[in-house]
Amino acid sequence: MTGTDLFIADLHLSEATPASMRAFTAFMTGPARHARRLFILGDLFEYWAGDDDLDAPLNRAVCTLLRDAHQDGLETSFLAGNRDFLIGADFCRAAHVTLATEPLRITVGDTPALLMHGDALCTDDTDYQTFRAQVRAPAWQAAFLAKPLAERKAIIEGVRAHSERGKQNKPAQIMDVNPGAVADTFRQHGVSLLIHGHTHRPATHRHTVDGLACTRWVLSDWHGSAPYLQSRDGVLSREELLPA
Ligand code: MN
Repeated sequence: MTGTDLFIADLHLSEATPASMRAFTAFMTGPARHARRLFILGDLFEYWAGDDDLDAPLNRAVCTLLRDAHQDGLETSFLAGNRDFLIGADFCRAAHVTLATEPLRITVGDTPALLMHGDALCTDDTDYQTFRAQVRAPAWQAAFLAKPLAERKAIIEGVRAHSERGKQNKPAQIMDVNPGAVADTFRQHGVSLLIHGHTHRPATHRHTVDGLACTRWVLSDWHGSAPYLQSRDGVLSREELLPA
C-alpha cells in the first residue's frame, strides 16, 4: 500500500462528453488503482436526477469503475457538487463510495486539511446562494425526488439552461470565491490547507489569515483529459493523465 491520495472535481460526466468518460475510465484503471484514497469533490456528473437513474448506461459504467477500484483497495469519498447533490445512499452502495458531508476534514501527510466543493465559498453570487439553500433543504429534496424521473430530468434541463443564460450576465468576479469566505473557512476550521473545485479556475493560492500562511488548491475541471491533484506522502502535485 502506497501513501498516495488523489483529488478530483468537476468532471461533469454525461453522455454528451464521451472524451471525459474515456479519461475517467483511464484514470480509474490507471492512477486510481495504485492510490490509497480518492476524494471526489463534487460535480462528478453533469447532473444527477436521483438514485433511481442508476441504470442509465453512463451512470452504471461510472459505478462499475468505482466499485472495481474499491475491490482493488481504493477508498473513495464523495462530496456533493452543485450538479450532483442528489446523489444518495443507493449510488454510494452501488459504487462502494462513502458519502461525505461538507466540509470534510482529512489529513494530507501530517497536515490537517479541509475539502469542499467550493460553491459555498462563492458568497458574492447571492442568487445562487438562495437557490443552493433551497435545493439543499431535506424537505425540498424529498418533494423533488417524489416526482417521476422524466419530470425531474426536464426540470433540471430547464434550470441548467436558465443558469447558463444567467452566467453570461454575471461579472466574472461574482462567480469566484469570496476572499472573506475563504479566510473565515481557514479560521473557523483551524486549518492551513484547503482543497476545492467548482470555479474551474485551477490555481494554487497563498493566503495569510491572522498572520498564518495558508494554501488553497483549486482543482481543474475536465475536458477530455484527467487532471488531478496528487498527495504522495503529503507532498501535493498537479498531475494530468492525457488520453491514450
Ligand atoms: Mn460546481
